[in-house]
Amino acid sequence: MKPKKARPVLAIGIDAAEPALIRTSIEAGDSPALKRLLEEGAWSTVASPAPIGSGTVWPTFFTGTGPESHGIHSDWCWRPEEMSLARYDDRGLTPFWKRLDDEGVRVGVLDVPFAPLVGLKEGFEISEWGAHDTLEGRMKFAPESLDAMLSREIAPHPFSMNGHRGAHELEALKQLGRDCLEGARLRGELALRLIAETAPAFSLIVFPEIHHASHKFWHTFPSAGDAFYSRDEVEKGKLIKPSLSDIVREVDRQIGRLIEAMGDEATVMVFSLHGMRQARGLPAFLDVLLGAHSFSRIAGWSAQSWRERGLSLFAGLKRRTPAGLKKLYHRRLPQEMTNKLAQPTMIPAYDWSETRAFALPSDQHGWIRINLSGREAKGSVPLESYDATCLEIEEMLRELRTEDGQALVHDVIRTAETARDALSQVIPDMVVHWADAAFNLPMRVGGLMLEAHPAATGQTGQHAPLGFCLMKGRAGFKAQTIWATEMHSIIKAELSGNLD
Ligand SMILES: [Zn+2]
Repeated sequence: MKPKKARPVLAIGIDAAEPALIRTSIEAGDSPALKRLLEEGAWSTVASPAPIGSGTVWPTFFTGTGPESHGIHSDWCWRPEEMSLARYDDRGLTPFWKRLDDEGVRVGVLDVPFAPLVGLKEGFEISEWGAHDTLEGRMKFAPESLDAMLSREIAPHPFSMNGHRGAHELEALKQLGRDCLEGARLRGELALRLIAETAPAFSLIVFPEIHHASHKFWHTFPSAGDAFYSRDEVEKGKLIKPSLSDIVREVDRQIGRLIEAMGDEATVMVFSLHGMRQARGLPAFLDVLLGAHSFSRIAGWSAQSWRERGLSLFAGLKRRTPAGLKKLYHRRLPQEMTNKLAQPTMIPAYDWSETRAFALPSDQHGWIRINLSGREAKGSVPLESYDATCLEIEEMLRELRTEDGQALVHDVIRTAETARDALSQVIPDMVVHWADAAFNLPMRVGGLMLEAHPAATGQTGQHAPLGFCLMKGRAGFKAQTIWATEMHSIIKAELSGNLD
């Protein structure tokens, strides 16, 4: 079949928009642009490696490969050769639009999380203009000709000025709401200008405002988890204005303007790669558990010290805990971080020879790395003991119960199929999905007092695994489920006209 004439593709990522939130808004008549897209196109579920971690989803989308291949699970990466954490940098990752650009397709991309700039000479590429989660702490863009528009003609995104980390008082939440609303409006304005002035054949615009708001406002979404939140939380949530629904409505309004500007001929794809569900704070006790169960050891410490730490934090004896410990979670919280939970740049000073497994700092799931010989520079677990070690940890986790008998762990995922596969892996070996009971913090479990991550105060939403895709294309595209790894192929097919 002959290729058809190329027509533009507009892809809009509504980062971390929960499918149920979008469907509810459409059904309530609050999202007319998305409603129209639903009528003219098709709704699909998007499956991604979100069960491993929220940091996997965008690199998976833009490289078309999974985390076992691109190696990104978080904005903090484990460096086994150095036995330390390093801030994510985009070394080695190439987004699919680089190839498009090489082939002469004009490309425009705005605020794609984790995506490196490829040095476009035309079109536009902008990172961290108003990101949910900043990696570099400054805006970068190409080509240089965009300077006037970005530095003078369009106001800066409120996220680039106001941090919302730890926001949980009503006033701070209202400010966050206003920033999301205004940010979405400005983003629409900027995207319209960019597309009008550079006319890309492929545009990718990411709206992070709903992601930002959902982490803090999830208890205000009516079907978010009626039994999970207290009546008091729900009542207080009603005072937050602008609300999550207001922000969804504003994003829809901007999407409507963008679709209109592209004209009827354009292919339009609006999507999220993962969603949102209820949470309360963030369980941050995996390292305590592993220590107390003798999987890890801090230099100079015994398993008993882990128990003391777990207890002393709760008992208000913080001042008596070793200085290095207190700093563990409070050390240099990166200033550029906004909503994403602050992460330590360091992990404890482990005695590696006595450490078989250790926790990596996380924004959601528990992440466990096996201290594997031949992979970790100071590995202590021989390859042949990898499976048994994982099983032993899994058993310990699955047995965890609150005092009233509820399981703390919902699931434990192994990321490598075999020990040999694990050898080349940089992502965590095990991923712990906490059960809802793990959010009743602090709590006492088997003589340990477990607590939340101090920087996660006020977080009422955590990521849910599934996203959505609403698409109106020329091929009458229809699929019940789309994998995040194949979305770039769908976009390329639409661009090239080779659909059959
Ligand atoms: Zn998030």
